[in-house]
Amino acid sequence: MGKINVTRSSMPPFEEYVEALKPVWESRWLSNRGEASLQFEQDLKQYLGCDNIWLFANGHLALEVALLAFDFRNKFPEGVKPEIITTAYTHVSTTEAIVRNQLEPVFVDVEPHFLTMDPTKIEAKITERTVAIVATHVYGFMCDVEAIQKIADQYHLKVIYDAAHAFGVTYKGNSPAVYGDAVMFSTHATKVFHTIEGGILTYKENEKLNHIEDLVNFGYVSQEDVAYIGLNARMNEFEAVMGICNLRHFDGEIEKRRKIVELYNQRLDGTDGIRILKPSSDIEWNYAYYPVLFEGYKEDRNQIQKKLEKEDIYARKYFYPITTQVTAFKKQYGSIDLPISLHASSCVLSLPLYPDLSFEDVNRICDIILR
Ligand SMILES: *Cc1c(COP(=O)(O)O)cnc(C)c1O
Repeated sequence: MGKINVTRSSMPPFEEYVEALKPVWESRWLSNRGEASLQFEQDLKQYLGCDNIWLFANGHLALEVALLAFDFRNKFPEGVKPEIITTAYTHVSTTEAIVRNQLEPVFVDVEPHFLTMDPTKIEAKITERTVAIVATHVYGFMCDVEAIQKIADQYHLKVIYDAAHAFGVTYKGNSPAVYGDAVMFSTHATKVFHTIEGGILTYKENEKLNHIEDLVNFGYVSQEDVAYIGLNARMNEFEAVMGICNLRHFDGEIEKRRKIVELYNQRLDGTDGIRILKPSSDIEWNYAYYPVLFEGYKEDRNQIQKKLEKEDIYARKYFYPITTQVTAFKKQYGSIDLPISLHASSCVLSLPLYPDLSFEDVNRICDIILR
């Protein structure tokens, strides 16, 4: 039996991709927002229900550029670091995007059911220097967007979401792009919806964010002048074509994921010591991951992971370690008390989940876990 990884990229039919690529090939316009990118932007605006969108080389850069565009440091004297309320139960990218912008991450814990930012912990951390909340829609379980927005409005904070996991999710029927001032989706090959490498930023009309176009083009404002210290963060046309094709098939892929999750639930839900994480009833989910907490199960998370590995099945510890515990951040942030994040990361395992994972393999994975 073949190796089973935690995920496997969805691919459009090869002929469909090649056909869609032809105009790019013939035009020799390979990057810099050509026809394919423009088309993909239109498709995404419709799918995500947003007016403002920018395509990026990857999700991380989209987040980093969003923070850069807000120009938070400009509000304070030299040497005073603006503070960003955030969580550590996320991909290290979220924390890195903050720190690389020379902003100070202020960590709050997650709530226990969805492992997203606990809004009741935010207010105690707000100071004169707080400028924004950066929260992650972990596993596609959206944060309590209403509670977060209420606090943000009260204290005049910006809200930026890391929605790397949340493409295709809706909350009360609304796309994640509706909530917050800027929203990043990753379209990396390992995500539910991908463009090989890539990222999408959606954002509300805002004077600062309107400069994104210049920022991601090295800060050029005309052929002869550079007004901002920018960078290059473009999606290329081959990636945009992959996105156009994958979007056509996306709903079908979600449906396949749903059926796999149903089977996992049938087999594992209700087992003593195993807690399946599920989204709230307000959420129409994208079935991006299948996170399971081994809380007092007969074998611990690491043992289960090893047992699966022996059978060539590779489940992953999303998220372990939490970002305050990695070597790069531990010295500065390692002692911050985040009990729920730490607990979850000590016992979580994301089981393999991708549209063409067979029911037979799902059953085999469950057999190994329950054996
Ligand atoms: C994947 C991921 C990122 C980074 O996205 P890339 O496209 O790989 O740069 C950021 N945050 C979260 C939560 C992710 O899962």
